[in-house]
Amino acid sequence: MKFATKAIHAGVEPDPSTGAIMTPIFQTSTYVQASPGKHKGYEYARTQNPTRNVLQNALAALENGRYGFCFSSGMGAIDTIIKLLQPGDEVVATNDLYGGTYRIFTKVFERYGIKFHFIDMSNADNVQQYVNEKTKMIWVETPTNPLLNIIDIKKVGKIAKQHQALLVVDNTFATPYNQTPLDLGAAIVVHSVTKYLSGHSDVVMGAIVVNDDQLAQQIGFLQNSCGATPGPQDCFLALRGIKTLPIRMKAHAKNAKKVAKFLKKHAKVERVYYPGFASHPNHEIAAKQMATYGGMISFTLKDDNVTTAIRVMEKLHLFALAESLGGVESLVGHPATMTHASIPKEERERNGLKDSLIRLSVGIEDVEDLIADLAQALEIV
Ligand SMILES: *Cc1c(COP(=O)(O)O)cnc(C)c1O
Repeated sequence: MKFATKAIHAGVEPDPSTGAIMTPIFQTSTYVQASPGKHKGYEYARTQNPTRNVLQNALAALENGRYGFCFSSGMGAIDTIIKLLQPGDEVVATNDLYGGTYRIFTKVFERYGIKFHFIDMSNADNVQQYVNEKTKMIWVETPTNPLLNIIDIKKVGKIAKQHQALLVVDNTFATPYNQTPLDLGAAIVVHSVTKYLSGHSDVVMGAIVVNDDQLAQQIGFLQNSCGATPGPQDCFLALRGIKTLPIRMKAHAKNAKKVAKFLKKHAKVERVYYPGFASHPNHEIAAKQMATYGGMISFTLKDDNVTTAIRVMEKLHLFALAESLGGVESLVGHPATMTHASIPKEERERNGLKDSLIRLSVGIEDVEDLIADLAQALEIV
């Protein structure tokens, strides 16, 4: 099956008891057993829920994986993956990471004796020098958040394999519409389903997809043991969102390209971070590993300071000032004071995250209206 067909059909069968074409919301905490241990495959809803099962299978199919697991948030999924490790293990991670991921690594898991190295992976060879016999995991986000760096998944995958480390790819920004990391050497794909996969800013959810049987067993065990599972209503909403993922992603990418071009020409804009430009340092890798360049753009102002950036954002009408991304409506955020405020200023600056950096999640509105909104807001600079 090709991607758009999978988005609508994969894992979804009419309900066997009624023929309902849409997966019912099984709003139940438990299931009646005919006699102890004699049941229909469902015992307790933290462990199994039919609505969640359908979503898990659909997500696995989209990522070209065999096993899907859903969580009550992207952070719940990330938490579960790190729990595969032992004290003393090491992780080599992208330096330009989602702020919450950086926070759980440094503020939670370092306390349990796991060591994290945050490095620039825009040149994949950099990874080599941080890998040693304790390295059990390599953690990649691509495109990165918020600098839209691109990391060569295939190259990092080879290094991971050489050292028998698991390559984890956070595929939230790209989505499986743009890239399927399991096909490029990743062992684990993780998502904040909250973003593009759900796509309508009405669900908080996470997911993991893997191919390996043993890994699937361990993750299933942790999912049930730690208990960060989503409710059936949210699973239904995510299933509904996924059906339009291909057409939404196409529209996001088309609009983002036009908005990026507009910003690049603008006299008040210093730099536009967008992998679709030939001038982007890893444009060729993006062209090779992604179907489109996605819907995310960041830019800095010539007047590089927090106050000016905030004034521009306050002046925007269509781009709503809010955390998150990937919904049909356009959003604007200021990483230094919002999503990445949990990363210390020195660390932010070392990673090239400037004070005036503004991040756009370009929605699927008419692009002329989005550009007009940016044009009027940039007038105040
Ligand atoms: C939002 C996000 C997360 C965390 O997901 P939640 O659903 O908010 O818990 C992880 N990684 C990336 C890249 C994200 O954008």
